Amino acid sequence: MNPSPCRLLEDYLVHDLQEADQAEFLAHLDHCFDCRQTVSEQRELDSLLVQSIGRLEPIPSRLTKRIERRLKVRQQRRFLAVGMVLVTTAFGILLLCRATIDSWHRSDPPLPEVLQGPTSQDSPIVVVTFPRSADVVAIREKTDSPNITFIWVYSGRRALPVPSSREVGRP
Ligand SMILES: [Zn+2]
Repeated sequence: MNPSPCRLLEDYLVHDLQEADQAEFLAHLDHCFDCRQTVSEQRELDSLLVQSIGRLEPIPSRLTKRIERRLKVRQQRRFLAVGMVLVTTAFGILLLCRATIDSWHRSDPPLPEVLQGPTSQDSPIVVVTFPRSADVVAIREKTDSPNITFIWVYSGRRALPVPSSREVGRP
């Protein structure tokens, strides 16, 4: 007997599924009320977090410009040093942590892993992943610049109470 696709729910929510498992889980969603409801609640929560970021901590308007300028200077230096004809577009990521300094120091969460990804124009040059033990939720916020994306990082995601199926009135 095959294990239930419900087991993939947690990994789906943190975008940690391989392609085949993702397809299996998406097909499963059509038939499983519990998983569908949990995914829906997670999306709502993500949406609320994004809204609250916009309201509480707007990214300073000049920050994006400053980062772009620095990227440009770095690109020019690289261009001169290597003598390349084409300089690939740089992709900047600034990790903004909303957690208090105290909580970071107390728990010392593992550092995110920064990978060099494919360098085509369509995909990001830098990929940031957090180990599962990092206990954070990260929200991507695009800017006007195609080269800059901010990532808001909130610690203690797993500290949020997860309602049991009875508490939210599931059958
Ligand atoms: Zn399910």
